[in-house]
Amino acid sequence: MEASFELTIEPLKSSTKELRTNDDLEVRPATAEAGEAREAAIERVEVSVYRVPTDFPESDGTIEWDSTTVVLVELTAGGERGLGYAYASPGAADLIRKKLAELILRANSMDIIHCWVAMNRAVRNIGKPGIASSAIAAVDVAMWDLKARLLGLPLVKLMGQAREKIPAYGSGGFTSYPLEKLYDQMQRWAVDGFKMVKMKIGRDRDRDKERVRTAREAIGSEVQLFVDANGAYAPKQALANAEIFAGEHVSWFEEPASSDDLEGLRFVRERAPAEMEIAAGEYGYDAIYFRRMLEAGAVDVLQADATRCGGITGFLQAAALCDAFQTPFSAHTAPTLHQHLCCSASRARHVEYFYDHARIEQMFFDGAAQPLDGHLRPDVSRPGLGLELKRSNIAKFLVE
Ligand SMILES: [Mg+2]
Repeated sequence: MEASFELTIEPLKSSTKELRTNDDLEVRPATAEAGEAREAAIERVEVSVYRVPTDFPESDGTIEWDSTTVVLVELTAGGERGLGYAYASPGAADLIRKKLAELILRANSMDIIHCWVAMNRAVRNIGKPGIASSAIAAVDVAMWDLKARLLGLPLVKLMGQAREKIPAYGSGGFTSYPLEKLYDQMQRWAVDGFKMVKMKIGRDRDRDKERVRTAREAIGSEVQLFVDANGAYAPKQALANAEIFAGEHVSWFEEPASSDDLEGLRFVRERAPAEMEIAAGEYGYDAIYFRRMLEAGAVDVLQADATRCGGITGFLQAAALCDAFQTPFSAHTAPTLHQHLCCSASRARHVEYFYDHARIEQMFFDGAAQPLDGHLRPDVSRPGLGLELKRSNIAKFLVE
């Protein structure tokens, strides 16, 4: 992969001093002797950016897009290779190359939290939410994958498995889809065994009614129907819509109002029909965001995205907050990664099988998530995330 960035160091000559990126977090130096792979130092950081065109113009309630960018991180230590990724701006790759890579090179591959804290400190002045947190996420996921591989464990076992499989919901139904395409996609998921499907709304109130009715017709009465407005509506407008959607037995209304408007979300949540849950959290980049959302009583179910909220380490913090607030938890997109995480998080309810990312992950990875009877099951016969990159398959998408 010539175009990808990499940093290589000579065989380990570590000293404790070199490893102290945080003065108050002392860690043991890595000892990468032969046969001691478990304590191996990170020798190499590779970052690459891929842009994958959508197979049809896509939009939701508030934006349109025609491609998805994947930032991929590969870490090498002790003869193993850890893989992490985030759906993020190419700027995240730049940040990893220019700032984060040097913090994790030579670090002990077991010391994930040490590295995570160092990376978070390093981005203080440029601002953590957004690009920086996604950059940290891609590195953190690669560190967890690497650690699991070095220990010879599937990621879900390293994290501590709570369940063998997690319900998944088919997610797509973009507002750019003509009615027939919406119908076909929703119906296909129902036929494939998904017990829940989600569609986008929020472009046009009158069209929303017709589109929701179409989706309900496609899936029949036994499959749950979720809608996601991506913050398109003002709270009162969202509430009026919630009452209309209740007629089609919509059981999940995601971001009925802007996620920045916690009072607005709470307003909708407290007044929406009882069978309709209000969900948000996909723009959460750190634990404080999730805490504020939960403290505000803004959601019935908290969502989090490990590729945004600082990786697996950040996702676990969100999961712990859901325990503290006794709130159900759901993962946003990136199904291949989240199947492991949600089979470990005690309050995880389901994983989003997002059309774009499911498609991309099938193209990118041998071992990508495979839904069966509406569930995802991490493959515990393979170490780490259980993924092998299909390099030749994806070379055409490589941009840097
Ligand atoms: Mg959403």
